[in-house]
Amino acid sequence: MTVWVIVVAAGSGARFGAPKQYERLGGARVLDRALADARAHADGVVLVVSPDRATDPEPAADAVVAGGATRSESVRAGLAAVPADADVVLVHDAARPLAGADLFARVIDAVRAGAAAVVPTVPVADTIRTRPDGATPGRTLDRATLVAVQTPQGFDAAALRSAHAGEPEGTDDASLVEAAGATVVLVEGHAANRKITDPDDLAVAEAFLARSDHPRGAG
Ligand code: C5P
Repeated sequence: MTVWVIVVAAGSGARFGAPKQYERLGGARVLDRALADARAHADGVVLVVSPDRATDPEPAADAVVAGGATRSESVRAGLAAVPADADVVLVHDAARPLAGADLFARVIDAVRAGAAAVVPTVPVADTIRTRPDGATPGRTLDRATLVAVQTPQGFDAAALRSAHAGEPEGTDDASLVEAAGATVVLVEGHAANRKITDPDDLAVAEAFLARSDHPRGAG
């Protein structure tokens, strides 16, 4: 089975204050780590960047394409560059530098085993409430029923292409494939695989990298 990975790196980093995927982390750019993880198991890697970076050399990617105004648009731009004969397509946030090659393998294996959509998840540590809305105060959700969803997310290529055909919008791809009728399979993610969202996340990622017992760490 041919496996391609789309690494989406076209965000502006509004919450971080700069494109966080280009920050330095342990001697490399955040996105270099995401690309290295992708490369370890894929036949090909498409990197999606902001239009002003589309001609920058990125030797770790097989193709570099310009993204769109939303994450979903950026994924579609990447998908257009994935060869038609790809069987499995993974989508990964460039802003997750510590996913690790093992997690990629777990996701790919689940798609190879027949899943249309696969997401890594971790338990939710905080109690989660819905926001107050007008006169409605919001409510506490049952934490035992919740998980946090990470990337890389893996898909049967045809299911992902079909889910994106109507140009839907979502915060991830599994929700779009699910809305198109597929069942989403969960695999175990891991705590280090945080999305760099604000500067504190970068400091936490540095700490994970420095830990000798972390698979990506110094030891
Ligand atoms: O904005 P968010 O944190 O959800 O971004 C997740 C990933 O999607 C990041 O790696 C970001 O660079 C990418 N993205 C993109 N194109 C956009 C918005 C986000 O490639 N228009």
